[in-house]
Amino acid sequence: MPASSSSLILAPRQTHRLFQGHTWVYRSEIGNWAGGEPENGAVVDIRDSGARFIARGLYSTASQIAVRIFTRKDVELDRAFWRERLAAAIAWREVRLPGRPCRRLVSSEGDRLPGLIVDQYRDADGGLRLVIQATTAGVDARLPMITELLTELLSPVQIIERNDLPVRKYEALPSRAGVLSGVADTAIRARVGRLDFPCDLLDPHKTGSYLDQQVNHELVADLVTPGARVLDCFSHLGGFALHALQAGAASAIAVDQAAASVAGARIAADWAGFGARLETANANAFDWLRGAEEKKERFDLVVLDPPSFTRSKDTVEGALRGYKEIHVRGLKLLKPGGLLATFTCSHHIGATAFRDMVVAAASDTGSALRLEATVGASPDHPVLPAVPESEYLKGYVFRVLGD
Ligand code: SAH
Repeated sequence: MPASSSSLILAPRQTHRLFQGHTWVYRSEIGNWAGGEPENGAVVDIRDSGARFIARGLYSTASQIAVRIFTRKDVELDRAFWRERLAAAIAWREVRLPGRPCRRLVSSEGDRLPGLIVDQYRDADGGLRLVIQATTAGVDARLPMITELLTELLSPVQIIERNDLPVRKYEALPSRAGVLSGVADTAIRARVGRLDFPCDLLDPHKTGSYLDQQVNHELVADLVTPGARVLDCFSHLGGFALHALQAGAASAIAVDQAAASVAGARIAADWAGFGARLETANANAFDWLRGAEEKKERFDLVVLDPPSFTRSKDTVEGALRGYKEIHVRGLKLLKPGGLLATFTCSHHIGATAFRDMVVAAASDTGSALRLEATVGASPDHPVLPAVPESEYLKGYVFRVLGD
């Protein structure tokens, strides 16, 4: 593990985000180094221009985010520190999402372990599978220790690394994915929410499932009226459609452009005994919505859960145009009194901008909306109010008022 006794002296200026509670120090905030620039991934102290200790974190030589802060106390970032933080993250899930077979156990900044994500999936035999992602050089260098600690704490039957995330390129880290320890198979049957889904832990989508939507699948299903007709756009494994069917919807259509996603939804529907009540469409949702509009299809619930349309501040405007297009089309397909459940997972699109876009789409289609629910990611994805990036998923359920 890279060792260091270097200190980063902050550039003398009035504001640094870390003074408002943020956990990142950008390269542009570096004044100079006491003890030389540390190695990639090393522990580094942050000091003010009077050399007073402020915080301790891990250094990245390649990224614009130079340091991620782990503590504001003068404590060692050693194995005991990591063990305690991991144990606290695991224990907190038992409070917020108790007994769930699948959930996020460690959520980076939200668990004060920036750069580390750990998801758990319990297979049909009760075996615990852990899927690890390291998004920084500091965490990547400590993966052997982290996997040892997770093995001590949880005795998993398998640990998988999904270090094939695009963000790793900002840290100049290689793309890697595969089984680190334990059994070899990676395609499992796992209960996510109230139903079983085929989760491939090496699936390019997330770590097998969109665990951040787990609780929202249930929340939306609980709003569905018996006999409803449901459209689940950007459905992946059909979590919204299938939970709605379980809650009494008559039929649902799951639309996704990834063939493997709709195939997975089909398998989950068969396991649940829903048969032909689930229809799937392997299509581009923009095209599918246009076709449905021409055919004058009508639904009681429309779900829009697209991937992030923007990965940077510069493309927000174009992204909002894309969001508005699907909202105009989605609203046109809703019966009076019907529900629109809509989500954005782009942290560059704020809650207000997103809602304003929905209001504009409603105005274009002459729909009056009532807000029925405001949601975020499932509670195993904690949000730090001082770190806006941790609040990436925003969702609303609106009812189209009939008159
Ligand atoms: N609703 C899902 C998560 C969706 S993630 C859940 O709750 O589990 C976004 C999905 O959109 C992915 O499955 C991806 O394959 C799909 N997708 C991306 N672009 C698309 C497009 N233009 N049309 C249809 N599906 C698309």
